[in-house]
Amino acid sequence: MAKLYYKFGAMKCGKTRDLIKTWYNYNEKGFNLIIIKPGDDKKAGENIQSRAHEELKADYVVPADVNLYDLIAKHMIDYNLHAILVDEAQFLAPHQVDELADIVDNFNIPVMCYGLRADFQSHLFPGSQRLFEIADVLEELKAVCKCGEKATYNLRLEKNNDGEYIPVFEGPQVSIDGIDSDYDSVCRTCYKKLKRQYTRR
Ligand SMILES: [Zn+2]
Repeated sequence: MAKLYYKFGAMKCGKTRDLIKTWYNYNEKGFNLIIIKPGDDKKAGENIQSRAHEELKADYVVPADVNLYDLIAKHMIDYNLHAILVDEAQFLAPHQVDELADIVDNFNIPVMCYGLRADFQSHLFPGSQRLFEIADVLEELKAVCKCGEKATYNLRLEKNNDGEYIPVFEGPQVSIDGIDSDYDSVCRTCYKKLKRQYTRR
């Protein structure tokens, strides 16, 4: 039986690289697969790029109100499909995760989701929460903190007035357009240390 997978980790754990590798592995063997990316078209963009600059394009960029089961059922009428890959799966709406599970069960094709475990304040995203609840296979992709420990926390960095990126610990779950931000992944000890350092006023 096909399975619903969630391959999760912190930023820079190689999720996208793994997704791209999987895509090529299937493709070489003549399998048909598609890539789905949650988000609204304009903001998310269709590019899927690893840090090693390998790049693919998403076949579908899907806003939260799209029913993924209906989308795939329609796609299956025209194309035979062997697997589905989902990039940035933490941004899926919870109902979309359930729709992916229905695709796995009713069409018997594997769906492999790649995403973050938690946000920059260490809370689950709605999409990752639902995946932890119902995925058949959970696999952690490991990132390394600058101290050498396993990185499990995401650190949001925003440009200050001097043009340097400093860690921030408040703000919306998804960074706002226009604010110059970046992310790093750190271990819990380093996260706490930085939080004490940067929130002391
Ligand atoms: Zn550390």
